[in-house]
Amino acid sequence: MITHPIFENTKVAFALKSDAELERAYFLFKMISIQPLVKIGTAATNFAIKASLPVEGLIRVTVFNHFCGGVNEKDCLPVIDKMYEKGVSSVLDYSVEGKESEFEFDAALEKVLKIIDFAREREAMPFAVFKPTGFGRFYLFEKLGKGESLTEAESEEWQKVEQRFDAVCSKAKENDISVLIDAEESWMQDASDNLVTKMMRKYNTEKAIVFNTLQMYRHDRLQFLKEQHELAKREGFYLGYKLVRGAYMEKENERAEKLNYPTPICKNKFATDTNFDNAVKYMLEHLNDMYMFAGTHNEDSSYLIMQQMHEKAIANNDSRIWFGQLYGMSDHISFNLASKGYNVAKYIPFGPVKDVMPYLIRRAEENTSVAGQTGRELNLLTKEKKRRKLEEDI
Ligand SMILES: Cc1cc2nc3c(=O)[nH]c(=O)nc-3n(C[C@H](O)[C@H](O)[C@H](O)COP(=O)(O)OP(=O)(O)OC[C@H]3O[C@@H](n4cnc5c(N)ncnc54)[C@H](O)[C@@H]3O)c2cc1C
Repeated sequence: MITHPIFENTKVAFALKSDAELERAYFLFKMISIQPLVKIGTAATNFAIKASLPVEGLIRVTVFNHFCGGVNEKDCLPVIDKMYEKGVSSVLDYSVEGKESEFEFDAALEKVLKIIDFAREREAMPFAVFKPTGFGRFYLFEKLGKGESLTEAESEEWQKVEQRFDAVCSKAKENDISVLIDAEESWMQDASDNLVTKMMRKYNTEKAIVFNTLQMYRHDRLQFLKEQHELAKREGFYLGYKLVRGAYMEKENERAEKLNYPTPICKNKFATDTNFDNAVKYMLEHLNDMYMFAGTHNEDSSYLIMQQMHEKAIANNDSRIWFGQLYGMSDHISFNLASKGYNVAKYIPFGPVKDVMPYLIRRAEENTSVAGQTGRELNLLTKEKKRRKLEEDI
């Protein structure tokens, strides 16, 4: 059920989808809603890719085309242009994950730098994005996070990680593009947070160029935000934060149980929702010091932001506030918000089919496990199909 009328307009939501694309999306979400199918499908796909079976074509015409913009940045151009006609910006996300070598980290860096070049020429692309572990070994982030000292060789390796972060942030500042830095597992996050704060201190002197991510399913993040605020005020830089709920909940809880420490995750969904909304309120209360990118598909949280902006007489298109959704999901939020003049950007993942599989699997699992999410997409698609049919009949 759609909880706020503003998000109900399916004509606006799906204006960019042809009838055939609407049917494909419906079929896809119908498949994803069947949990055993996702489980079997995921295992079979992983196996087929490892065994080099020719499944890429099938993946491409189904999940890949729905959730990704293409294999390279040029493939994404038609999507970027079409969305921007409706006021929705794009964040090109090179979604290759799980790489561990220096060569691959440098390749990821080159990719992000190239995206900034690409974005420089396009108003439709105000942000670049990267994952911390795309630029350095998970192990190093984890070791630093534990407060352990690095060996000489590891220190040199870490220097390179810092240089990669710096190269992106510095180029972003030169070109007036903002950078969203994703958050990952809590046991690597401290080292990343320290590094991102360093980047904010250096590059957020006039406005927020560098954005870190706060996963509000972590019960310590509101306090962290407040501490960062104090630090930023003291040292005179702007904060940029992408607010999300968090994508690694099962993994976090399982690890905490296995290693016998208290889970960093809020005790239930309601607590996460409250925590997220409190962070929204805090950020909007202190908008002179910070910029917010709300990465969410949650209608209540999106509505809360609109409501708070209205109450505080903040313009819909205030450049310090952005709404973000993932390509292929929650178009009813993105396009309806954009039609009312809010700043909206969608993450468009791209990359070779087999390399974006972890991302695609997360989306499939998320849409299976997040109660109501798939049902909601299916209801909206059905409503739009009916609306079009009625329009045809008239
Ligand atoms: C633009 C964008 C960027 C993103 N970037 C990141 C990122 O950098 N890092 C990252 O981790 N995720 C990221 N995500 C994913 C995000 O964290 C969520 O997994 C996803 O958006 C679903 O949450 P939601 O706010 O849309 O709302 P909902 O669908 O209302 O909430 C689902 C979320 O609530 C939380 N939750 C569910 N059940 C419980 C429970 N029992 N107890 C406690 N909490 C619970 C979980 O976080 C779950 O994902 C991003 C999402 C978007 C849209």
